[in-house]
Amino acid sequence: MGIKRIDHIAIVVENLDKALEVYRDALGMTVTAVKEMPEQDVKMAFLPSGDSEIELLEPLSTESGIARYLAKRGEGLHHICLEVDDIAATLAELKAKGAQLIDEEPKPGAHGKIAFIHPKGAHGVLIELVERA
Ligand code: ZN
Repeated sequence: MGIKRIDHIAIVVENLDKALEVYRDALGMTVTAVKEMPEQDVKMAFLPSGDSEIELLEPLSTESGIARYLAKRGEGLHHICLEVDDIAATLAELKAKGAQLIDEEPKPGAHGKIAFIHPKGAHGVLIELVERA
């Protein structure tokens, strides 16, 4: 299984501007983009660090999965994304090993093909896999 690197770490926040006061202003990280993605019901900020980046996610409504997550669990780590060479092969291998997948098949994401592994099957952490386009 070819895990190449940690692609990004996603953190759910209540207010992106408030969060940037910490991640950008206090920690001194650079924000390369802030995007509103109404189709995913989220506003995101991207803060690269080395070969990975931190993504801050603020839900735009109270309806989405991320909004419900925030309401239930509060701010904090939402998922870790691992980049793989071949997402279809990785999913097939995980399935064969009995992993608890949320997505049995890859789906289109912001940066390529993605799929999620259930946190119940990954010791409490939601894991996203990405095969970059
Ligand atoms: Zn992600």
